[in-house]
Amino acid sequence: MHRNGIHHVTTIAGPARRNLDFHTRVLGLRLVKKTVNFDDPTTYHFYFGDGEGRPGTILTFFPWDNVAPGRLGIGETQETVFRVPEGSIGYWTHRFLEKGVAHDSPVKRFGETVLPFRDPDGMRLALAAVPGIGDEPAWDNGEIPAEHAVRGFHSVSLLLEKAAPTGAILTDVFGFTELAREGTVTRYKAEGTDVGGILDLREAGGFLPGRPGAGTVHHVAFRAADDAAQAAMVERLAQNHGIRTTEQKDRDYFRSVYFREPGGVLFEIATDEPGFAVDEPAGSLGQALKLPRFLERSRPEIEAVLPEVA
Ligand code: ZN
Repeated sequence: MHRNGIHHVTTIAGPARRNLDFHTRVLGLRLVKKTVNFDDPTTYHFYFGDGEGRPGTILTFFPWDNVAPGRLGIGETQETVFRVPEGSIGYWTHRFLEKGVAHDSPVKRFGETVLPFRDPDGMRLALAAVPGIGDEPAWDNGEIPAEHAVRGFHSVSLLLEKAAPTGAILTDVFGFTELAREGTVTRYKAEGTDVGGILDLREAGGFLPGRPGAGTVHHVAFRAADDAAQAAMVERLAQNHGIRTTEQKDRDYFRSVYFREPGGVLFEIATDEPGFAVDEPAGSLGQALKLPRFLERSRPEIEAVLPEVA
């Protein structure tokens, strides 16, 4: 079995309750973990995903009440795209109209129908219609019929001054191959990976650099099956590309290293192990506030400052 491609995408959001409502109720993702930003425990860290919280389905948010909007630009993630079954674009267009979700008309990209939309912070998301995935398991949020529900990530697109140096990292370190080109976009596919297996690199000279803030992506994480696979990637980065990563950090649900890729986007390499069921039952993921052990004794103070979201 192949275990490569996107692990998760982490983003910056405005108010927590609005973020939670949109991604669980409107988009129908499962909240698979409610924890805090380990580096700033006064802030939530929400993980949304499929029923089991599998790698390749995880969109995460740091919601801040008073964060300035970011600006899309060079060296940043442009859009995060989810997979939906081929016949579901009509359902979703209707749903976005009904729920007042900002969206564009469906477009064709690389032969697929794609419906771009934005979350309440203006972050660029999209749904791609993928044939033959209707039988894949889907999270039932009680409102969206399973036949139309989101099935994990389709792709992430990066806005870059030059695509080739980033492409070299994708192919040499993360097991992607160049698949096709359309206009200024080069599409890379992770060998054998259907969920979260595509990176689109868009070359756009002359843009201003991106500015972090609400509605922007903080980093994109790629999968490593385990510590040994991650260590091998770290070594390839150093030997073939002269890039040093951070020390490994224990994120409780995976173990991570970080580096800035040549185009300026923050990349992470996250292990598939141990996953989100490590500290609560799979059936009740996301219901209780989970804290890393080093913060557990501060739980009363942390709970007192976190905004009410239930
Ligand atoms: Zn991450």
